[in-house]
Amino acid sequence: MTSKVGLVYSDEYLKHDTGDHPENSKRLEAILNYLKEKNLLKNLVSILPKKAKEKEIEYIHSPSYIQEVGEICRRGGGFLDPDTPVSKDSFEVALLAAGGVFSAIDRIVDDLDSAFCLIRPPGHHALKSKGMGFCLFNNVSLGARYAQKKYNLKKVLIIDWDVHHGNGTQEAFYRDPSVLYFSLHRYPYYPGTGDIEEIGEGEGKGYTVNVPLPPGCGNSDYIYIFKELLSPIANEFKPDITLISAGFDAHQDDPLGGMSLASQGYGVLTSLVKEFSQGIVSCLEGGYNLKALRESVFTHLDSLASRPEGTRGPRGREFNLFPKGGMDYELPSRGVKEIVEKVKGIHSKYTR
Ligand SMILES: [Zn+2]
Repeated sequence: MTSKVGLVYSDEYLKHDTGDHPENSKRLEAILNYLKEKNLLKNLVSILPKKAKEKEIEYIHSPSYIQEVGEICRRGGGFLDPDTPVSKDSFEVALLAAGGVFSAIDRIVDDLDSAFCLIRPPGHHALKSKGMGFCLFNNVSLGARYAQKKYNLKKVLIIDWDVHHGNGTQEAFYRDPSVLYFSLHRYPYYPGTGDIEEIGEGEGKGYTVNVPLPPGCGNSDYIYIFKELLSPIANEFKPDITLISAGFDAHQDDPLGGMSLASQGYGVLTSLVKEFSQGIVSCLEGGYNLKALRESVFTHLDSLASRPEGTRGPRGREFNLFPKGGMDYELPSRGVKEIVEKVKGIHSKYTR
C-alpha cells in the first residue's frame, strides 16, 4: 500500500510575473515537466486550489498591508522591497497560493496522507505588515491558522528546511505554544534572524526552535539534526498536522544557498518527517537551480508517496530508497554536533 499524496497546482501561479528574477514561473514549469517525465505525476491526486478570502489573509497579515499589496498590483505592479517584485496579477495569485494550502489541508482532513503545494509566490519571509524576500503572504502560517480555525487541529508543527530563516513564520507564532516552529538555516545570513537564542516569548517559550548552521552543511548534518533534535521534539509535541516550508535552496547546486545537500537528501528528510506526522502539507518556498529543484522535489514527493516500511527499518536498510547515494549519513561534522548539543541545552528546560 502506498500513501495517498496530493499535488496542488494551477497555471494561474505562472501569472506572478517577476521577469528574470530567480523566483520566476520557470521553476514551477520545470518541476511539473519533470514529475511528468518521471511518471510520478499520474500517481498524485490533483488538487485545484481555491482562492483565499482577504478575511482569511488577516489571520496573519494586517488589513492595511493587504490593501497596500492589492493597490500596488492594481496599478500594474512594483516592488514590495528591493528583492520582491509584484506584477498586476500578483495579488490574486498570492491569494491563490495561500488558498492552495487551505485546499491541501481540506484534503488531508478528508482522505489524503499528504500533499505538496506547487505554489508561488513563496511565503515564509512575509511579515504581518511587510512583504520581503520574494514573499507576499505567509502561505504556511496562514495554513497553520486555517487548520486550527476550520478543523480544530490544535497543535501544528511547522518544519522549515529552506536555507533561509523563516522570519515571518517565526514572528507569527513567537508567543504561541499551539504552533511549534522548527527551522534549520544558514546563519548569519539573509534575513538576519534565527539565532539559537530566539526560542519564543511568554507562553510560546520553547516553541520556536532555531538551528543556525554554518555554510557547507550536507546530508549527514541535516539527517543528524532531524534524528537528534526534530524527531524527539516532534514526538513530545505530538502535532495534529505537520506543515513543511519546503525550500530546496540548501541543495549543493543552488546559486543562493551555499549548503551541500544532494537531491536524495530531501527524500531521506521526508521519510524522517513521515515517522512522527499524522498528515503532511508541504509548501514550496525557495530553490533556484532548476535541475536541482526539480530533482529535489521529485525525491521529496517520491518519499511522501512510498510505503513507510520502505523508508524506515533497521540501520543499513534505512535509506535504501537511494542505493546509488553512496553518502555517509551517520557522521555529522563536528561543528554541527556542537550546535545540536547547544540547542538541546537551551531547550531542555521546556516541555512541550
Ligand atoms: Zn530560501
